[in-house]
Amino acid sequence: MRESVVIMGGGVIGLSCAFELRRRGHQVTVLELTRCGGQASGAAAGMLAPYSENVEGPDAFFRFCLESLRLYPEWQADVKRISGRTFEYTHSGSLYVAYHEADMLALEGRLLWQREYGSSGSIVEGEALFRLEPQLSRDVRAALHTPEESHLYAPHYVAALEQACRVTGVRIHENLERLSVADWQNEIAIQSADGRVFGADRLLVCSGAWAQELSATFGIRIPVYPIRGQICAYEVDGKPVQHMVFGNQGYLVGKENGSLVCGASEDVAGFDTSVTEKGIERLRKWNKNAFPFLADKTPFHRWAGLRPATQDGYPLIGALGGAKRVVFAAGHYRNGILLSPATAMLAADCLEGRAPAEYAQAFSPERFGSG
Ligand SMILES: Cc1cc2nc3c(=O)[nH]c(=O)nc-3n(C[C@H](O)[C@H](O)[C@H](O)COP(=O)(O)OP(=O)(O)OC[C@H]3O[C@@H](n4cnc5c(N)ncnc54)[C@H](O)[C@@H]3O)c2cc1C
Repeated sequence: MRESVVIMGGGVIGLSCAFELRRRGHQVTVLELTRCGGQASGAAAGMLAPYSENVEGPDAFFRFCLESLRLYPEWQADVKRISGRTFEYTHSGSLYVAYHEADMLALEGRLLWQREYGSSGSIVEGEALFRLEPQLSRDVRAALHTPEESHLYAPHYVAALEQACRVTGVRIHENLERLSVADWQNEIAIQSADGRVFGADRLLVCSGAWAQELSATFGIRIPVYPIRGQICAYEVDGKPVQHMVFGNQGYLVGKENGSLVCGASEDVAGFDTSVTEKGIERLRKWNKNAFPFLADKTPFHRWAGLRPATQDGYPLIGALGGAKRVVFAAGHYRNGILLSPATAMLAADCLEGRAPAEYAQAFSPERFGSG
């Protein structure tokens, strides 16, 4: 059945869901407090790296991340074709570096289980490693090479998604300043500060780090909180870093536009998105340990965004049991760009009442109890 859906939040998650729901024939309206992509989504490094980001084991979250990576080739081509815009999408592969013999066991353990999940990865060391990444510090002992991982240029991707939504007929309202849920039990009615009421059959909550503000409205605990990520970029000649390079304290990723993006801190600073000297200095220290040529370089750009973290590290994706007309898609923490296509599919399936059982429990928005 075709329905009308109001989406609260115009970040990568809200826009991806809007794009998919519109393609399935639903009527979609996006309500955004500021401007689309103006928060975490526009700040992201754009890495699509399920293997490097999930070091513990193949849980439901890892499988969901992997599913999303595999959706990307077709999904991003659709976004480009429909929006008429282009953005960088690069299959660079990644290197997860280890400096000490003691770290090798962890890399080998990861490689074992990741191979069962489609990775053609290997441990590379010595000359083979420096052939792959010639400017890497000679202090690096070895690296886990994962050829399957990619990255994109997040601000351009989000802008293309927004455009794809607009050309397919999604209505987008920005700069709404304040929104309240006037009704969700009988019908959906969202009221803006200027007195407008947006009505719909269904509500999709995609408000990222701000999702917790709806706890009282829906009577559930929503332990989503902001974790600030400070990040910077250097201007470089040519392409001195070939892969996405990860370590325990940071990552580097070279972009087509000649910048080398280095991220990112993880600090608790409420909703403050300012950049601190201490935060960037810590990144610079790690950067020059990984790539000595960065020792005398200063980042030309520094910024920060708020990752929507959850108490258990899993996102909230699913319908409220007592009110199927309300669906959540929030709390994507470090992987919202990677998870954009899979979340769009899953949230749309939830709205259409056919969510796969695999994720229903793990990502249930009600798993933290009432509040
Ligand atoms: C420095 C940094 C680097 C990152 N790098 C990567 C990466 O390499 N790869 C990756 O996959 N992920 C990365 N992430 C994580 C990724 O950016 C997030 O997981 C993702 O952007 C979350 O998307 P979102 O749409 O849920 O949130 P947001 O982009 O924050 O969007 C939420 C939107 O909701 C709006 N909003 C808030 N309250 C309301 C309301 N009541 N009504 C309507 N709208 C509302 C906000 O204004 C905002 O625009 C990074 C994040 C940071 C900060």
